[in-house]
Amino acid sequence: MAKLKILKEGDPTLRRKSRPVTEITPRILTLLDDMVETMRDANGCGLAAPQVGVLRRVVVIETPESGLIELINPEIIRAEGEQKAPEGCLSIPGQWGITRRPASVTVRALNRRGEPFEVTGTDLLARALCHETDHLDGRLFTDEGILIEMLGDEEE
Ligand code: ZN
Repeated sequence: MAKLKILKEGDPTLRRKSRPVTEITPRILTLLDDMVETMRDANGCGLAAPQVGVLRRVVVIETPESGLIELINPEIIRAEGEQKAPEGCLSIPGQWGITRRPASVTVRALNRRGEPFEVTGTDLLARALCHETDHLDGRLFTDEGILIEMLGDEEE
């Protein structure tokens, strides 16, 4: 496994749309492994492939409640309710903002064996599922329609 460099806001790659994975190759499995290592090293609860410069629809999420979730070609198939809560991003270090997200989200994706599965999350997991799938379409939490207000810089 290898730790990857995380792109920061302002890098044009973060604004591009990622392509679906058509075949789960050894390269995709290595990408998943490296993304997990990179996310854990950065103390993040989610990471999307474009954040490490790979424009593929691949996401890893790890929250205390959910454990590690690897998502290939994730799609939000249901979103209900609304929550307003603080959110941050490894590509926008040290900055936090209050965002508007669905209270509950269901995502359909493939796992690393290419098997479809669904995951439903509330609270932090719902925010993470929205945040990371947004990255695959070039959206950041600071964008209009998501961000309510920034909470200002924090010392890292
Ligand atoms: Zn992010």
